[in-house]
Amino acid sequence: MTKHIFVTGGVASSLGKGITASSLGRLLKARGLRVTMQKLDPYINVDPGTMNPFEHGEVFVTDDGGETDLDLGHYERFIDENLTRDSNATTGSIYSAVLAAERRGDYLGKTVQVIPHITDEIKRRITRLAGEDRDVVITEVGGTVGDIEILPFLEAIRQFRLDVGRDNVFYLHVTLAPLIVAEQKTKPTQHSVTELRGRGIQPDAIVVRSEHPLAEGLKRKISNLCDVPIDAVVNAADARNLYEIPLVLHEEGLDGVVCRMLRLDVGDPDLSEWEALVDRVESLDRSVKIGIIGKYVSLQDAYLSVVEALKHGGFHHGCHVVIDWIQAEEVEGLLAEGRLRDLDGIVIPGGFGERGTEGKIMAAGYAREHDIPCLGLCLGLQMMTIEYARNELGMAGANSSEFDPTTAYPVIDLMETQRGVTDMGGTMRLGAYVAQLAEGSQVAKAYGTTVVSERHRHRYEFNPRFRARFDETDFWCSGTSPDGRLVEFIELRNHPFWVGTQAHPELKSRPTRPAPLFREMIGAALARAEGRSPHLFDLTVESPSVTA
Ligand code: GLN
Repeated sequence: MTKHIFVTGGVASSLGKGITASSLGRLLKARGLRVTMQKLDPYINVDPGTMNPFEHGEVFVTDDGGETDLDLGHYERFIDENLTRDSNATTGSIYSAVLAAERRGDYLGKTVQVIPHITDEIKRRITRLAGEDRDVVITEVGGTVGDIEILPFLEAIRQFRLDVGRDNVFYLHVTLAPLIVAEQKTKPTQHSVTELRGRGIQPDAIVVRSEHPLAEGLKRKISNLCDVPIDAVVNAADARNLYEIPLVLHEEGLDGVVCRMLRLDVGDPDLSEWEALVDRVESLDRSVKIGIIGKYVSLQDAYLSVVEALKHGGFHHGCHVVIDWIQAEEVEGLLAEGRLRDLDGIVIPGGFGERGTEGKIMAAGYAREHDIPCLGLCLGLQMMTIEYARNELGMAGANSSEFDPTTAYPVIDLMETQRGVTDMGGTMRLGAYVAQLAEGSQVAKAYGTTVVSERHRHRYEFNPRFRARFDETDFWCSGTSPDGRLVEFIELRNHPFWVGTQAHPELKSRPTRPAPLFREMIGAALARAEGRSPHLFDLTVESPSVTA
């Protein structure tokens, strides 16, 4: 029988429910359990794919091409399992399924209602992740208890325990003890639990987030007020590092409480791999400064997986990665100030729309001419290609037809398979595709193999019509689709590291197994940093207090 853990949140959003859920997943996996995870999102979009990253942060893509919530990235990084599109459901996707069923006539004669039809569909989404080969499904409910649109989800998870039995369901509620005039407050937790109980759910454990460790006596108070055993009141104070949270929760006994209540008869967790990771993270003694040339630099969640992948590369090399967030539209001015010269590496991340593209192109050119390691991701590859076409191949005004439909040199063009696509939702080239890398190329060396699979999310591609012009130069199309038609990786001969990929390798990077291109890029950046001046940066500037 698969056990279910439901994670809800109260008091405020952005409390780190996703990290808490992921960390618990890691702890249970470390006890030998087969764990999978999912996110239920109460908003009405069918998936986050059509949302601006400013609204919702990065869109995380699964191998099977699901466009999902960024929390799935945390899940994959922590439990080290590849998830599928089934691991994310939204109110919109649930209503779509129910409405399609209604049109088919599945409910003939009935009035279709939130209870039972919507709640049944929510329960179906939860149940389909369970099965023979799954010991535990962790389901995180997005939003905060008390939100209007969360109600059908709370009702569904409440019913779920009745359906599958008390011993098979665990409710975990994440709250916050804010510090007000130097005193940690438990009242918000109490109110939030009252709200949850009003929906018929009594939490089995409470994870209390706080800036500093909870003061003496507060656990007892929360235990009494919320009717949760004291050992099931768990404190997750801000940690120095995100990846420490599983160890913090284990120290606080959360996984033990979960196993006891769910009657999971398993031994102690083997946390050696994770402890080694945290040790490595704690002993970083060098640093590199990487510029991310972005469009959403004031909302860093838009590039969450890119930042994590860079950090993973740093863990491998024992160095801090200090990120310099560079607004793409300001590159021209910043070049004059020398801000790019002071970088050890540049990342040009993915994106859509014209804004900022000229700055990204300029940054790619600066990196090329000044031997600065540069990694282009999806749109980044496109920007590097355009830069090279304009400045080395004499194609004045070269561009992507996404940004300039009338350019004489559309070196980046709409993919053949995208012509005629009119719906915007879920129609890009999405998910994992295999690429063939050229023997002896920098990318093949990085991956240690010539056949790789990475995740994609794009409509435009390197225009094969112009390929021959590039092939005559140092610009190497070093990875293609297996039929040789689509350019998937590019690199520059005679450059320390100027590499682009049409894919998003950041999505598959794991703290214990950094994505190869990020690992190599940080290696090249480190060589530049140490060649210039060994201790250029103040190591204290990084590590803002990480919230769980
Ligand atoms: N806008 C570009 C395209 O659609 C790049 C997409 C991306 O960076 N994910 O091809």
